[in-house]
Amino acid sequence: MSSQIQPQLFSFEFFPPKTKERAIHLKTVQKKLSVLNPDFFSVTFGAGGSTRDKTYETVLDIQKNGISAAPHLSCVASTKENIVEILTAYKENGVSKIVALRGDIPSGMMSAGEFCYANELVDFIRAQTGDFFQIHVAAYPEIHPQAKSASDDFKNFKRKVDAGANAVITQYFYNIDSYFYFLDECEKANINIPIVPGIMPITNYTQLFRFSEMCGADIPRWMRKRLEQFGDDTASICAFGEEVVTSLCQKLLENGAPGLHFYTMNRAKPIRTIWDNLGFDVAK
Ligand code: FAD
Repeated sequence: MSSQIQPQLFSFEFFPPKTKERAIHLKTVQKKLSVLNPDFFSVTFGAGGSTRDKTYETVLDIQKNGISAAPHLSCVASTKENIVEILTAYKENGVSKIVALRGDIPSGMMSAGEFCYANELVDFIRAQTGDFFQIHVAAYPEIHPQAKSASDDFKNFKRKVDAGANAVITQYFYNIDSYFYFLDECEKANINIPIVPGIMPITNYTQLFRFSEMCGADIPRWMRKRLEQFGDDTASICAFGEEVVTSLCQKLLENGAPGLHFYTMNRAKPIRTIWDNLGFDVAK
């Protein structure tokens, strides 16, 4: 499959490695993906600040290698003082993009901290640092799993935009209509910032199923039935995943998505395969 449409904005997400070996592996992955010239690499932040230092180290390492890095920052279970410390450290090191999130309270952790929702974090970042940071926030075309209703979720999403977000990255989805419906809703609400679809490659059905249950992403029946049938046959799962996700990316871009944000799971190969299938250039 080949596409003439080159995404305008694209980025790759990693999680901070826990061991030295995994850190070496991640550097190799980053090297392989940096030749695609992404706008940035983002690095997740463990719930309740559990990866605070590792996220920071990974982000600084990425910037040192000449790629723009966007740390994720979740505010749940955090104090204002913690957030100021983190923002100051990033600012001093020239990191100017942030993915601002609420996060989820880890089980067993009692204190919710000084922030309840991501819009409060966006407000706080703007109050503390003005326009220094380019702030990305999360959106859920298939509705956040804890939302009271779809319309309530949209109103809450708009609070983050009104608080000063510059761009949006969505939760992954395989129902493409949910994304375009969400774009229409944004247009009606005069939300004009880029809404970049989050793309999850498919390489492991058990893991995908578990993630999707937790984050409220729907795996459509036709996909689920086929994936179930492959059992432990990883090669068939990957081949099917590449085909489905390539087609999803192509349709998204052809119909006006401003770019793509890939959840890499710290692996380069599935992304490179999709990239090559789409016929994208190596340099933007
Ligand atoms: P919010 O926007 O605060 O929304 C959370 C829920 O509260 C929604 O149901 C919303 O409708 C409701 N709500 C929001 N504001 C209000 C309000 N003012 N009043 C009442 N209700 C409100 N998690 C991590 O732990 N680390 C990461 O690095 C990470 N990265 C992510 C990256 C992306 C692109 C995405 C899509 C998700 C990521 N997550 C991450 C998961 C995310 O933390 C969870 O989905 C979390 O449950 C919600 O975070 P949020 O920022 O979207 O929250």
